[in-house]
Amino acid sequence: MSLFGRESWRAEDRFEAWLKRVHQERVFSGETEPKGPCPDEAFLRSLARRSKSISLSDPRIDHAANCANCMNRIMAMRQNVRLQRRKLAFGLATACLIVIAGVAGWSRYEMYHRKTMASVAPVSATVDLWSTGTFRGEQPGQLQSVSLPSAPVRLTIILPRFSSPGQYLIAVTRDQSGNGVIAEGFASATASNGQERVSLDLDLRSAKAGEYFLSTTHAQDQAAYYYPLQIE
Ligand SMILES: [Zn+2]
Repeated sequence: MSLFGRESWRAEDRFEAWLKRVHQERVFSGETEPKGPCPDEAFLRSLARRSKSISLSDPRIDHAANCANCMNRIMAMRQNVRLQRRKLAFGLATACLIVIAGVAGWSRYEMYHRKTMASVAPVSATVDLWSTGTFRGEQPGQLQSVSLPSAPVRLTIILPRFSSPGQYLIAVTRDQSGNGVIAEGFASATASNGQERVSLDLDLRSAKAGEYFLSTTHAQDQAAYYYPLQIE
């Protein structure tokens, strides 16, 4: 029953389309006689948009339906309306894509920005080893105050009294034998006010808070000294 109903509706639809085509052919070949003058553009536009404000008894509809000129205009306008709707849909889809891409790009930029910010803005810290023992193998006793943050650190070390000039390997390690290196780097000692200092960047972000060792190793004589270090 429903199938039959749908079939008959389709047939009706086809019949209407056929009527419309036959009628349009008659209009365009000049077989119809439109009554009255051509209505203005605004009226034709509301017809093209199938505006509900137009009364079906309006004589201008009868004219437009039988005038090749008006029908041409209406068909062109309808084409335009369809094109605009498609453009609007495409524009909306594009806008959605732009928003999605923008959000994704922005969050990636944010992550990148945070990373680079962390790597370009290290925490400055100075470790003063001036008064600690300088003899090889000597246990540096009184050094409880050395602590560094778990962050990229721009470290300056004032080397112990009588330290040699030259290159030093500076490292943060888990134990006093140099195992479990958290970060390390070479730096040249520079003398100022009679003190030898080394400066370098160490990235301590991978270190959890706890007890570590800061070591200085002179590149020429390989003398290594370990100092207790607290990472916070
Ligand atoms: Zn007309």
